[in-house]
Amino acid sequence: MTVNTASTAATDATPDSSPAAAVLAAHPQATTDAEARRAAATDRSGYIPATLPDGVVLARSVDDVVEALRLAHAHGAPVVPRGAGTGLAAGASAHAGEVVIDVSGMNRILAIDPVEMTAIVEPGVLNAEVNAAAARHGLFYAPDPASTAICSIGGNIATNAGGMWCAKYGVTRESILGLTVVLADGRILRTGRATIKGVTGYDLNALFIGSEGTLGIVVEATLRLRPKPVRTETLAAYFADIEAAGRAASAITAARIQPSILELMDGPTLEAVDQAEGTRHRELGGAFLLAQTDGYGAHLELDEIAQAILPYATSIHRAADAGEAEALVKARRDAIPSLEKLGRVSIGDIAVPRNRLAEAFAGLEDIAAKTGVRIFSVAHAADGNLHPMLVVDPHEPITEGPAKAALGDMFHLARRLGGTLTGEHGVGLLKRDWVGEELGETSRSLQQAIKDVIDPRGILNPGKAI
Ligand SMILES: Cc1cc2nc3c(=O)[nH]c(=O)nc-3n(C[C@H](O)[C@H](O)[C@H](O)COP(=O)(O)OP(=O)(O)OC[C@H]3O[C@@H](n4cnc5c(N)ncnc54)[C@H](O)[C@@H]3O)c2cc1C
Repeated sequence: MTVNTASTAATDATPDSSPAAAVLAAHPQATTDAEARRAAATDRSGYIPATLPDGVVLARSVDDVVEALRLAHAHGAPVVPRGAGTGLAAGASAHAGEVVIDVSGMNRILAIDPVEMTAIVEPGVLNAEVNAAAARHGLFYAPDPASTAICSIGGNIATNAGGMWCAKYGVTRESILGLTVVLADGRILRTGRATIKGVTGYDLNALFIGSEGTLGIVVEATLRLRPKPVRTETLAAYFADIEAAGRAASAITAARIQPSILELMDGPTLEAVDQAEGTRHRELGGAFLLAQTDGYGAHLELDEIAQAILPYATSIHRAADAGEAEALVKARRDAIPSLEKLGRVSIGDIAVPRNRLAEAFAGLEDIAAKTGVRIFSVAHAADGNLHPMLVVDPHEPITEGPAKAALGDMFHLARRLGGTLTGEHGVGLLKRDWVGEELGETSRSLQQAIKDVIDPRGILNPGKAI
């Protein structure tokens, strides 16, 4: 495993005799161009690899992926699948000796069936493009990461991505009916089915979704679309501090109301968004909660939400029209890009039981005080999924020193509260140190055995996920 330090310059020397070189020499879509290798070396996690991958296969078709994996398997060359490179766990990071298989060029929507409410897409299609195409039929694709405009469906499947609408409609897994996957040796596997129901055999869809490119490369997916809600209602509420906002979010869950969006942002994040976008959220409070409801009774459900949070909020604002609602949703989507303007950002992704959000926020404040790392927090509150964002000096590493200590403390905080290491971004490289502690020996060794059966030469995204 390559050791990462921010101060280590990435080398761009290309070795000429290695398993990777054999793949690159034989594949018609391969490049060893230094710029292409640099562009494929990392993602948006803040991780800086100390070396560059040996080359990149720019796949344009299923055959390109089959050929790349057939060659890699024959030569024992490690490969790193890559979509749009927006991952936050260094899952798509690649190093010397590795070949990146970039499927972002496989970006066609192959079919939309408005009656069955399904879409068949290639892996490089951007999430927002699926939604734009579905909207033309009065439909939508529910898993909508804040990165919707820049992340690919293949990456979403590999990380089992979540998003704001997951509060009501579930994460990526709940919207995937079937997959076509190229296995490590180049064989093609079809998982799942085209129907809404079906239980023949083991659920291989579930195994591949969230496997972070360690079990195969997704080359086609059948997605489940849903009818666009007839009505949506949106509110923003402000609170004295983030603990009060956390208690309000838990009160909504306890009242058994089903928002379609329920997002939290703390005061420092509001300040960063205001600074980047010229908005004025921070002067209204020390924390922000965004709630949306949809369906015929959306207005009634939003009344219930307003009622549930009233004891905690300092003010509540209902969006008067779609423009105002979109501006509130945009404030949440702007959080990560705004923080990226302040320094190197490393994003935590812990999830806790939803009634323990306030305790989690308090614990994060303690971690910031103890480690001296600036922590900005947002959360998908309806899922108990917190994103504590560490912002360090651009020259500081995130894989050692105070930032690493803070990530470890966050994991242990989540565990103490009955939670988990990662809610939706995946383990990648950055969180591997803590995987064993959460899974335990029996589960981890079984997972390794599954990996060994599916990828016996261990070439697919080695050192990631498990
Ligand atoms: C501003 C911003 C906001 C974000 N908001 C969210 C959010 O709200 N929710 C969320 O879940 N994530 C979020 N993310 C993280 C990121 O966008 C998601 O993890 C996304 O699913 C990654 O997709 P990608 O195409 O960029 O994948 P990549 O970064 O290219 O790859 C991610 C992982 O998937 C694997 N992979 C990629 N394509 C394939 C394939 N076809 N077959 C097999 N494996 C593959 C890679 O090897 C890697 O392990 C955000 C990121 C940014 C920068």
